[in-house]
Amino acid sequence: MRPFAYLKPADVDEAVLAVAADPGARFLGGGTNLVDLMREGIERPATVVDLTALPLDEVHDLPGGGLRVGALVRNSALAADRRVAARYPMLAQAILAGASAQLRNMATVGGNLLQRTRCPYFYDRESACNKREPGAGCDAIGGFNRSHAVLGGSGSCIATHPSDMCVALAALDAVVEARSVRGVRRIPIAEFHLPPGDTPHVETALAADELITAVELPAVPVAARSRYRKVRDRASYAFALVSVAAALEVRDGTVVDVRLALGGVATTPWRAREAERLLLGGPASEEAYRRAAEAELAPAEVRPGNAFKTGLARATVAATLRDLGEGIAGTPRDLTDEEGTA
Ligand SMILES: Cc1cc2nc3c(=O)[nH]c(=O)nc-3n(C[C@H](O)[C@H](O)[C@H](O)COP(=O)(O)OP(=O)(O)OC[C@H]3O[C@@H](n4cnc5c(N)ncnc54)[C@H](O)[C@@H]3O)c2cc1C
Ligand code: SF4
Repeated sequence: MRPFAYLKPADVDEAVLAVAADPGARFLGGGTNLVDLMREGIERPATVVDLTALPLDEVHDLPGGGLRVGALVRNSALAADRRVAARYPMLAQAILAGASAQLRNMATVGGNLLQRTRCPYFYDRESACNKREPGAGCDAIGGFNRSHAVLGGSGSCIATHPSDMCVALAALDAVVEARSVRGVRRIPIAEFHLPPGDTPHVETALAADELITAVELPAVPVAARSRYRKVRDRASYAFALVSVAAALEVRDGTVVDVRLALGGVATTPWRAREAERLLLGGPASEEAYRRAAEAELAPAEVRPGNAFKTGLARATVAATLRDLGEGIAGTPRDLTDEEGTA
């Protein structure tokens, strides 16, 4: 690891000023992704601005039933928050489906939003990777792409977004609050993660000097009946092949409210808007769930290594909605993980 300067500011203004003054500086949350990238020489910050002394580690109620989550709230603390478990079970389940207990104890909400892809070529400095080195090419497109995206990719990059938490945030229409020397900005989660296009190294709408200060969860009554289902190669310590965050309300056999987002299949946390549109106002039936999932996956661009993901995603969406339709919402600890069969 290259030498770097280390700062640990005690207030937000100081943190923002430190990074504004130094284009080679990076914020440090729990360090569970950044430090790995520094060890591999992929990130080479001149200065590391440790955020862990900032007073951004609380969850507050918002008027109307939402929650404001400080950027320094640890993933384990957010999953354990009783309000999250009651109002947004899919979020608690998604967090608990990610990483390990030790990592979740370190990882922060802000850091989770900005974690980098797990594309193996991105971590291998001998490989061509447009995300690591703009213009270098992409070894994944014609190479080993079992874990890669079938939605939202481009001719430059097909890496999946790795976060479980962000899939639930996408379904919940969370808003990211960011602060810089220019002031405060609120970025809807749907606009936060950017598809790769021709610039896969530009991954989010956040400027390099912007500090994430909080994530706001609006009141989403249907989310009280929600669940997160993750399919992966091993029962723990593995990123999603496919995951589904879903909330469903059924009245007299008709879908009256629904939220759906997918992970593991797309370059960004993927809000399944087409499936939601087809489901809303229609019958709460297995056939309707399958048709909606099929429509969402119709634009999928598959490669030999990841073609299995479309069928797996369709089946996982249908199974998750069926559980919710039958009143099985799950508890935060009920992760319903499944091992991939591809
Ligand atoms: C073995 C292993 C398994 C894992 N499995 C999973 C999994 O299954 N699912 C999953 O979702 N995740 C998984 N993870 C990833 C883990 O969730 C992330 O590493 C973690 O969420 C990152 O949070 P952090 O606070 O440690 O971020 P850091 O490593 O501190 O930072 C990550 C990035 O965010 C920036 N940053 C941090 N905080 C802020 C802020 N407030 N404002 C602006 N920028 C900021 C940093 O500069 C850096 O670029 C795994 C990680 C490991 C090592
Ligand atoms: S898929 Fe993206 S991250 Fe992976 S090698 Fe290609 S450009 Fe790099």
